[in-house]
Amino acid sequence: MNDQLRALLDLQKIDSQIDAVNAELKKIPEEIESERLAINDAKLMLEDKKKSFVQLKLEQKSLDIELSNKEEAIKKHNTELNMVKDNSMYRALLSEIEKAKIDKGMIEEKMLELMDLGDSLNKDNKIEEQKYKVEEAKINDRIAIFEKRVVELNTQLQQLSQQRPGYIEKIEPGIISKYEQIRKLKSFVIVPIEGDSCGGCRILLPAYMLNDVKKDKNIVFCENCSRILYYPE
Ligand SMILES: [Zn+2]
Repeated sequence: MNDQLRALLDLQKIDSQIDAVNAELKKIPEEIESERLAINDAKLMLEDKKKSFVQLKLEQKSLDIELSNKEEAIKKHNTELNMVKDNSMYRALLSEIEKAKIDKGMIEEKMLELMDLGDSLNKDNKIEEQKYKVEEAKINDRIAIFEKRVVELNTQLQQLSQQRPGYIEKIEPGIISKYEQIRKLKSFVIVPIEGDSCGGCRILLPAYMLNDVKKDKNIVFCENCSRILYYPE
């Protein structure tokens, strides 16, 4: 294999590595973003749960007020009982007191229910908060690994880019410019001959072209796909 071809293959190896590094670098921000979204979702769910606890506390407060209103009413009616002379008024007050007592009982029952619910919500929230913290730490660890990888990849990219000119200067400028042109369209520019066909586009190559490649004097381009042809050693 002539030196030009060898240098081209070396350059192609470097370029493939550059492509792989770039492809990985391109994917990482999406990965990090999806990790961040996962943290956000978990956080929102936790906040929702905390909100229902706050809501419950508000309900408890309003029940407290209702209860003391009922107690006030009962007290007031009891005082009034001692002052009324009229029988029907007396009975009406008794029935008011009775009604207020029933309401008070219902409020107290509801308060007990809310207290139980509050206890279990509080317990759940603590468990969920713990789970969230564990999950958040795991996600942050994964993000840190991605960020570290970005630094590694950028270093690799820099090293590969520094190696590139060394190979380029071994190759004729005309061939390099063709190589760069084809590289924009195709991931592999230099392809082996497989059977009697171009390893890139699979077209059957004419005998004179196979001969030219065999002679190994000039760089031979596939007439169909413009890739550079070589016989693997
Ligand atoms: Zn071809």
